[in-house]
Amino acid sequence: QTGDARAAQIPRYVRVNTAKWSLEDAIQYLVSQGFTMDDSLVSIKSFSRDEHVPNLLLFPAQTTFHDDSAYKSGKLILQDKASCFPAVVLAPPARKDAVVIDATAAPGNKTTHLSALMQNKGKLYAFERDRKRFGTLTMMVSKAGCTNVEPTNSDFLTVDPLDAKFANVTHILLDPSCSGSGIVNRLDHLLETEEENQESEDERLNKLASFQLMMIRHAMKFPKVSRIVYSTCSIHATENERVVRAALSSDEAIAGPFQLATKEDVLPSWPRRGMPEEFAEPETAMSVIRCSPGEDATNGFFVSCFVRQSVPSALKR
Ligand code: SAM
Repeated sequence: QTGDARAAQIPRYVRVNTAKWSLEDAIQYLVSQGFTMDDSLVSIKSFSRDEHVPNLLLFPAQTTFHDDSAYKSGKLILQDKASCFPAVVLAPPARKDAVVIDATAAPGNKTTHLSALMQNKGKLYAFERDRKRFGTLTMMVSKAGCTNVEPTNSDFLTVDPLDAKFANVTHILLDPSCSGSGIVNRLDHLLETEEENQESEDERLNKLASFQLMMIRHAMKFPKVSRIVYSTCSIHATENERVVRAALSSDEAIAGPFQLATKEDVLPSWPRRGMPEEFAEPETAMSVIRCSPGEDATNGFFVSCFVRQSVPSALKR
């Protein structure tokens, strides 16, 4: 099956931007535009609610929104279902004193999602290293009406975790550059990989994995961070389970100490979990999420969540 054919099977996912209006208002608006709520999505003008992500709606794949006024004004955001998982799993607090980081933010789908979950309260630092993509991020943040976001055009690895500004950061989202191998209309390359290209492909994945590991270890250095979500749109264990495994045995994870959040804390209703053969204890795979392109009506995706373990005060220095 080609990437295009698989893409045609993925519904059009639309996230209701609750920074601007409520789900109920959005549904009323859609009905006024001639849509009907119908789980079968048979009719071209139908939609339904997603069963895993609150405020996410599904439309038939061919539905377009480019001329829709709610889309144009940032009230509706086009975002694949799997790409909504990281912010839901991070579950940032919605409090005046909340301090959260989105380490790799552009174009801003997850930044705006985090901001909506925080109900625009507290502070959300959004870093993006690439200048052009940073421009897109600032546009998206402003279009979505996210007033608690401070976008910064810098490399997260150069951000000092001990800077007083970040003393109260408790939640970090890490969605760094990856091979993008899970994106359905980019999947065709997998069918075509020739043997001689395999070596350079492995080398590329290993380089990405070292960078991804560095990013997680850096996030673990923030003194009060208690929850870190690491996600990719890759289907390769090299960038997913293996990076997580390496992160868990890093000096930073031991010092934290950080462990993976349990399954109950990471979208327990989502059935597809990690690859058991990649962990010393196969059960560990239950703590992480995978989405399989073509099988889950989403792009290929991976989500994991590190949590700081509380250390009994008698053991604290
Ligand atoms: N989270 C984004 C969203 O949902 O819209 C997508 C993020 S994309 C997968 C990864 C982004 O991280 C790219 O825009 C890339 O330029 C940026 N990036 C890569 N390394 C970075 C670093 N060290 N610091 C900050 N941004 C970085």
